Amino acid sequence: MGRSASLHVFLFVIFVSLGCSQVSFAAAPQVARAELKPYPAQTSPQDKNSPPSPASGSQTSEQSRTEQYTLSQERYEKAVAYSRADYTLYFVSYFLGGLFLFLILRLGVAAKFRDIAENVSEKRWVQGVVFVPLLFLTIDALDLPISVYWHSLSLRYEQSIQGWGSWFWDWAKGEFVVMVLGIPVVLVLYALMRRSPRRWWLYAWVPAVLFELALIVITPMVIDPLFNKFEPLNKEHPELVASIEKLTNRAGVPIPPERMYLMLASQKTNAINAYVTGLGASKRVVIWDTTIQKTTNDEALFIVGHELGHYVLGHVWKGFLLGAAGLLVALYLLFRGLHWTLGRWAKDWNLYGPEDWASLAVLLLLLQVLLFFSSPVISGVSRMEEHAADVYGLEVIHGLIPNSAEVAAHAFQVLGELDLADPNPPAFITFWLYSHPPLGDRLVFAHSYDPWSKGESPKYVK
Ligand SMILES: [Zn+2]
Repeated sequence: MGRSASLHVFLFVIFVSLGCSQVSFAAAPQVARAELKPYPAQTSPQDKNSPPSPASGSQTSEQSRTEQYTLSQERYEKAVAYSRADYTLYFVSYFLGGLFLFLILRLGVAAKFRDIAENVSEKRWVQGVVFVPLLFLTIDALDLPISVYWHSLSLRYEQSIQGWGSWFWDWAKGEFVVMVLGIPVVLVLYALMRRSPRRWWLYAWVPAVLFELALIVITPMVIDPLFNKFEPLNKEHPELVASIEKLTNRAGVPIPPERMYLMLASQKTNAINAYVTGLGASKRVVIWDTTIQKTTNDEALFIVGHELGHYVLGHVWKGFLLGAAGLLVALYLLFRGLHWTLGRWAKDWNLYGPEDWASLAVLLLLLQVLLFFSSPVISGVSRMEEHAADVYGLEVIHGLIPNSAEVAAHAFQVLGELDLADPNPPAFITFWLYSHPPLGDRLVFAHSYDPWSKGESPKYVK
């Protein structure tokens, strides 16, 4: 789905909270950029390009051994080319995003928008309602070609099957969501800045954390359905729900069937995935319909097992807490950065102070920088959680599914082929933007993880 720049840049809260709190099974390279759905890539189901892989049915007794992530020559070349293009675009898009914000300030565009807003009304809130959409839409219009290129790339590599009309409609909805969420956030922030020029960063933290919490709770119920259709997993796949219940009972953490959803991803993508999201009433496990279509029952159960790991290990809660801590640090750095920047360039950029609406563009620019440099930390934490979820998934299916290590390894193989996972990501790229360990590592780990035969105790599922 198209993610617009201001959604990307401005809603740091969403990034941190949802980036950390929606934990999925798979991640394509674009992970680092795609905050809400660590996802983009796919190939079509019975794609003619698909190498001889997913044996249908769940005959786990057959002798295939998936010890390494291997691709056909043709698939390998595609995976490498797609990944490289993706990494490049990631860095280019950050650079351009920053450049656009700088130009908006340097060329006096932000100041111009402020003048327009101030001429409309004396009332601060009216000014905000005028100013915020002007700025956001401008940024996103500038950013649009990058988003378009990103989507064309995923179409070219048969990762997405979403037509342009549908894609633009998602983009427009994304803009709408940004406005609805962004305007009140900016109004509250600037009210606090006027009231308390030196402490606003601290006072703003309280509503920011509440906002983050509210977002995590409502996103699965309100925002996600704007972009994809969901239905109870029980509706079409009661047998899968029954198998999952066996898993969860074994894990000692029964998850009620009404917390399991099917996402109709096949309308837009060929990728397979699943994720855990929400808090409180909206807490849920979501499985893409493509996952069920393209994997065997046992493989799908391993993928669900991985998600149960996120659920049971409380990764959404931990993501929320991490996001809250990150927000405090970010707000303080924004406060310092804003004063520093204005001290130098306020005159050049025609800004009269922090409480000037136009300084929002400075905050966005600083956020862009912060976000960029926090990426390795966020990715690192995420990779640890993903590994833990892999371990959990392997343990929870052990003994219930015959030949479970092979099943899990083969699930990764299927995932890699469909998503064109990079067989050999550069170490720096992994460090900087991989939300999941490289696919090849996950596969090898899945195939070799065996505490049982060594008389060791499994880590999570005893
Ligand atoms: Zn995961």
